[in-house]
Amino acid sequence: MDKERKLIVAGNWKMNKTVAEALDLVRGLKRELGSVKDIDVVVAPSFTALSEVSKELLSSNIRLGAQNMSENGYGAFTGEIGAGQLRDLCVRYVILGHSERRQFQNESDALVAAKAKAAHAASLIPIVCFGELLAEREAGTTEKVVEAQVRGSLAGLTKEQVVETVLAYEPVWAIGTGRTATSAQAQEVHAFVRKLLSTMFDEATAKRVRIQYGGSVKPANAREILSQPDVDGALVGGAALEERSFVEIIKNSL
Ligand code: PEP
Repeated sequence: MDKERKLIVAGNWKMNKTVAEALDLVRGLKRELGSVKDIDVVVAPSFTALSEVSKELLSSNIRLGAQNMSENGYGAFTGEIGAGQLRDLCVRYVILGHSERRQFQNESDALVAAKAKAAHAASLIPIVCFGELLAEREAGTTEKVVEAQVRGSLAGLTKEQVVETVLAYEPVWAIGTGRTATSAQAQEVHAFVRKLLSTMFDEATAKRVRIQYGGSVKPANAREILSQPDVDGALVGGAALEERSFVEIIKNSL
């Protein structure tokens, strides 16, 4: 696929897989995707599997991601994991502000912004998620909600940092539901966000930021969604847990 920005497809494994299962999956992905250069491929296992998966990915083109991190550095923060500790495991990306964390851990835009800043300070690339609820879409407030989340979650980032940030538009009603946004719905929001970025930063910066779509992406719908001009990749949940479907999403998007 000929795109203005390099596509990035990331698999969010959420709270799934033992270390052995994670290794099994990542070995299969290495075999199947070892020669893919035109798409950035990222896997984000649970913290418990990061160390072993990291070793397996040494000298691979597949990059390692984490699913969350603390906004603080080292110190007395029981149960938390900091950016420096992720860097120590050769983690390159970190998913921030996923809707499940916003919903179940009450993460706010301000917290996501603090985490994004901490990620950049440690040279990690944040994947910052945002997206509206079904009720918000039905009430016609999608753009208002998305604008507030994007402004709030990127607050305080410099132009240079935002270029090194991946955004992920994930309409909450499409996550894990089998209900995908149409390619036109995705493009509409992505174009809106890119315009917003040019207001917040400038046009040249906005043109360089990659915006993923997430929400029930499958092999059958990936190509059409990713071929939209402002869609620069996918954040994949369910279909990333199985080798065949994740590989097919990527191969169908080449
Ligand atoms: C997600 O949780 O980021 C996601 C997009 O999940 P799914 O692909 O299962 O809808």
